[in-house]
Amino acid sequence: MDFRSYIRVIPDFPQPGIRFKDITTLLKDGAAYKAAIDELAQFARELQADVIAGPEARGFVVGAPLAYTLGLGFVPIRKSGKLPYKSIKADYSLEYGKDALAVHVDAIQPGQRVLIADDLLATGGTITTTINLVEQLGGKVVGAAFFIELTYLDGRQKLGDIPVKSLVQY
Ligand code: 5GP
Repeated sequence: MDFRSYIRVIPDFPQPGIRFKDITTLLKDGAAYKAAIDELAQFARELQADVIAGPEARGFVVGAPLAYTLGLGFVPIRKSGKLPYKSIKADYSLEYGKDALAVHVDAIQPGQRVLIADDLLATGGTITTTINLVEQLGGKVVGAAFFIELTYLDGRQKLGDIPVKSLVQY
């Protein structure tokens, strides 16, 4: 399927010079959404993932249906301060300032094979922070799956040997 044709590019959002990739136009199309998840699910099967983890918020829209399709569990990686149980957190820098992601301490068992899912790989900051949390819990990150990859930002390089799958590249 030509997934690119389902993605809407919005110039100058959220600020001048940024060409934002809007995935809502893919999500609202049932056949395209299903095909996208099914293709990422095949990647997860090949890597023999045991569990899917995804960062808030668009990582939930990719990771949860992926987990459901595979009959696997889903681990939400949330912005700091949102999780109710004992959590660990990791800081990451944004374009302006800092933020933190967090995960429950018992969300992943040591040795579990974890596939990370998000809508888009840009600089890789969000995903490397997610990897850091998974690894702190003893999980093994076996791959990272995205709808979109901005190849000119080289996020993939930050992931080292971890296999990366993206459906559309810009
Ligand atoms: P990174 O941390 O790799 O620099 O940025 C990726 C994160 O920012 C993802 O969680 C993604 O949801 C968000 N993001 C950055 N740019 C875009 C964009 O153009 N479109 C969408 N949908 N998300 C973006």
